[in-house]
Amino acid sequence: MTGRVILRTDHAAQHPWPDDMFLQGGNRGITFSAAGNYRTAFVEAFPRNPGTFLRGEGATVAEAEDACWAQYEKLTACPAHPDHGPFEARQYTNGAGFCTRCGTWFSKVLPVQPENPDRTPSLMERAFTGDGEALTEVLTAAADVDNLPQAGKESNR
Ligand SMILES: [Zn+2]
Repeated sequence: MTGRVILRTDHAAQHPWPDDMFLQGGNRGITFSAAGNYRTAFVEAFPRNPGTFLRGEGATVAEAEDACWAQYEKLTACPAHPDHGPFEARQYTNGAGFCTRCGTWFSKVLPVQPENPDRTPSLMERAFTGDGEALTEVLTAAADVDNLPQAGKESNR
């Protein structure tokens, strides 16, 4: 069904998302990136069984929805849809993995593995596990969201 408003935006969905698909978005999201944090409009979708999280970004919520929809189309076009797999863990040890056929990330599709001590944790991971410097970077970026470079405006990603 089209025309329903994406949660936390004033944007009516333009793509035929399933009725039970949870959709949310925003005009003022922040993406934390090793190449530099940036501000972006975003739309997120949460397909279930197996569970995943699709996030599209763009200069506007409409562009972000297009980007999110493109990921959803890739997922539903997978020859192994709706089950997906086989899965590969790549850098994940928490049971999450990527479908080797469509490349989509899924949670809880693989056994949980012991932590790799050489792995570099993400900024958000560090912020939520007590790294004060990482937390300061997250909070500073959130407070300063209007001054961050904007996705889609410059090609500095
Ligand atoms: Zn797949």
